[in-house]
Amino acid sequence: MSDKNAEDRGSGLMILTRFVVGIFMLLMFILGIFVSVRGFYPQNIIFIAATLVLGLALFGSFCIKYADVILLVFMATVYVVSFLVAPIFGWRNSCHNFLFIALMIFWYDSRKSVKIKLLYSTITTALICALELSTRPGEAKISTIGFDYRFMLIMNTIGFCACVCTVAYLLCRDNVNDERKLILYNEKLKHMAGIDPLTGLMNRRQIGEKFEELTRETELSITIAMGDIDFFKTVNDTRGHDCGDYVLKTLAGMFEEFMKDKGYVSRWGGEEFVFVFSGYNGDDAYPMMESLRQMIEKNTFDFFGHTFNITMTFGMEEYSPRFGTEEAIKKADEKLYIGKENGRNQVVF
Ligand code: GH3
Ligand code: MG
Ligand code: MG
Repeated sequence: MSDKNAEDRGSGLMILTRFVVGIFMLLMFILGIFVSVRGFYPQNIIFIAATLVLGLALFGSFCIKYADVILLVFMATVYVVSFLVAPIFGWRNSCHNFLFIALMIFWYDSRKSVKIKLLYSTITTALICALELSTRPGEAKISTIGFDYRFMLIMNTIGFCACVCTVAYLLCRDNVNDERKLILYNEKLKHMAGIDPLTGLMNRRQIGEKFEELTRETELSITIAMGDIDFFKTVNDTRGHDCGDYVLKTLAGMFEEFMKDKGYVSRWGGEEFVFVFSGYNGDDAYPMMESLRQMIEKNTFDFFGHTFNITMTFGMEEYSPRFGTEEAIKKADEKLYIGKENGRNQVVF
C-alpha cells in the first residue's frame, strides 16, 4: 500500500508541477504580449524568453520523469524574471511569490527527507531575501497608479491565486483519497476479522459481539442454540476432508437461508454452529430448530456423485439477563451434549 502511495505521489507531483509551470507560462505569455503592445522594449524580451523556457520545460516534462528538474527550471525562471522585472515594473510585479509555490510542491514530495526539504527551504528563503535586498521593494520605473502597473499586478495576482488553488486542490484531493482508501481498508479488515473463511458465516468472535449487542439493545426474548454435526469425523475419514468441507459449506448456506428472518447464525468452530433467535423465546424457537433438524436429516448431500445423509444434534437455551450471554451459550452447549448422549439427531431444550 505504501509503495502504491509513493507511486501515486510521484505522478501527483509531476501533475502539480506541470499545472503550475503551465499557469506561470500563460502569465508570462500574457505579460509578454501586453508589454510588447504597450511599447516596453526591450523589456518584453524577459517575458517572451520566460515563456519559451517554460514551454520547453513543460514539453520536457513529458520526456523526462523527474519533476524536480522541471521544478528547478521553474524556480530559476521565476527568480531571473523577478530580478529583472522588479526594478522596472515594481516589486509587487516581480512574481517572486511563485517561489513559495515551488516550495510547497517540494514539501509535497514524500520521497524526499525532511533534511533535504529544510535545506531547500533555507536556500529559497535566502534567495528571496537576496532578491528583496537587491531590488529595493516598492520602487518601480513606471507609475504605480498607472494602467500598465495595475494590469500587470492583476495578472500576477490571478496567476498566483490560480497556482495556490491548484496546489491546494491537488493536495487536498490526495489526502481525501488516502483517507477514503484507509476507511475502506479498515472496514474490509474489520469485516474479514469477523468472518469464517470456509463458510462465509460470522465467526465465534462476531456472533459473541452480536449476541451482547442484542441483549443491550432489545427487551425482546432471545434464544440461543448450539448445533454439532453427528459423526462428522466419519465423513472426513471415509469420504475425505474436502467432502467434510463441502458438508460444512452446504450446511452454512442452508442455515443462512433458514435464519434470514429469525436472527443470526455463526460457525462457532470445527463442526459446531451457534444460532441466535432474536425476538423469540425458547417455546417459539424450539419448533423452528426442530424443523431445521428435520430438514438436515432429509437433505441428500451429493459429493461428486456420492450421495449420503447426515444428522445434527442441538442444545437450546433462552437468554436471561440473570446469567448473561456466556452462561447462555454454556447452558446450550451442555444440553447439546445431553442430546449426544441420548442418541444424537435431536433438539434438547
Ligand atoms: P460427534 O457426533 O460426537 O460430534 O462426533 P464427531 O465425529 O462429529 O466429533 P469429533 O469431535 O470426534 O470430530 C469432529 C471432526 O470435525 C474432527 C475434525 O477433523 C473435523 N473438522 C473440524 N473442522 C473441520 C473443517 O474445517 N473441515 C473438515 N473437513 N473437518 C473439520
Ligand atoms: Mg460432531
Ligand atoms: Mg464437535
